[in-house]
Amino acid sequence: RAKSEGRNQFRRYIAGMDRRAQNRKKLEVSLRDAIDRNELRLVYQPIVELDSGVVSSVEVLLRWNSAQHGFVSPQVFVPIAEESGLIHEIGEWVLLNGCRAATDWNEKVSLSVNVSAKQILCPGFRQSVLTILQETGFPASRLELELTETVFLEEANLALETIAQLREHGVRIILDDFGTGYSSLSYLQSFAFDKIKIDRSFVSSLQQKPVEGGATSDTLIRAMISLAQMLNLPVTAEGIEEEWQAEELRRLGCDYGQGYLFARPASDYDLRRMIGMNPGVEDKQTP
Ligand code: C2E
Ligand code: MG
Ligand code: MG
Ligand code: MG
Repeated sequence: RAKSEGRNQFRRYIAGMDRRAQNRKKLEVSLRDAIDRNELRLVYQPIVELDSGVVSSVEVLLRWNSAQHGFVSPQVFVPIAEESGLIHEIGEWVLLNGCRAATDWNEKVSLSVNVSAKQILCPGFRQSVLTILQETGFPASRLELELTETVFLEEANLALETIAQLREHGVRIILDDFGTGYSSLSYLQSFAFDKIKIDRSFVSSLQQKPVEGGATSDTLIRAMISLAQMLNLPVTAEGIEEEWQAEELRRLGCDYGQGYLFARPASDYDLRRMIGMNPGVEDKQTP
């Protein structure tokens, strides 16, 4: 009996794996047409200076509302785009439309764009960024690219070179989700960054009791901020939802904050109002 129960469990397990693989394949097929079918949208979330509350940059985040699958989270479709190679076309679309939207923003506000390791490692990436900047007239000095620690897993030298070239043009490079990657800290020695972004998971566990002998998030965040300060890098904390978190982070020396406390990701129209601009005519069609 125990044996047949085990076998059934195994079959259910395999069937579950099949379903997941099939579902993934279906998403990939739909994602292929998402741009042409006008299913992708961009939303914008401000990043504020904690001392003054002034918006210093705005992160652009991708949204997919699929006719077939409904709303799909980027946490689900970005990995599919990366594995299928669609990320190159999609990433270019994000950069182009983000820069277009940001060209007439207040010139003190930068645009932050998430870039996956797969894109950085593509030989045409640097040129594609420069072409988009030229076409849209958006200044390189106001563009920030957010990279995660996964770029250090694969051909680090190629990534290093592309990053160095883009920085020469004035583009700033931000280390996103700091503290959650797999790499050692040694990459901080070979890579030049302009800013570090502490992952939301550390912010949300602030003030939580650690397991016995473990470090509190306060301690970890303080260590990350000290490290950044010693490297002369400004720090942003993401996922700030409560006033006390913002206060605590400011006290610990964090420079910038992002999260629902300040603003949720919003349409281009709403973002313009947030950064004190005439929002123009609300257009639900353009990304
Ligand atoms: P990320 O770059 O770390 O972006 C921050 C995520 O945290 C966003 O989720 C944002 O909506 C969410 N967030 C911001 N403030 C708060 C808060 O106070 N509380 C909570 N609970 N969440 C908050 P989102 O938009 O679902 O994006 C998830 C991830 O998908 C991003 O993480 C990024 O890695 C990836 N992603 C999104 N857009 C793009 C894109 O255009 N290109 C690439 N390559 N990746 C993207
Ligand atoms: Mg990001
Ligand atoms: Mg992040
Ligand atoms: Mg994160």
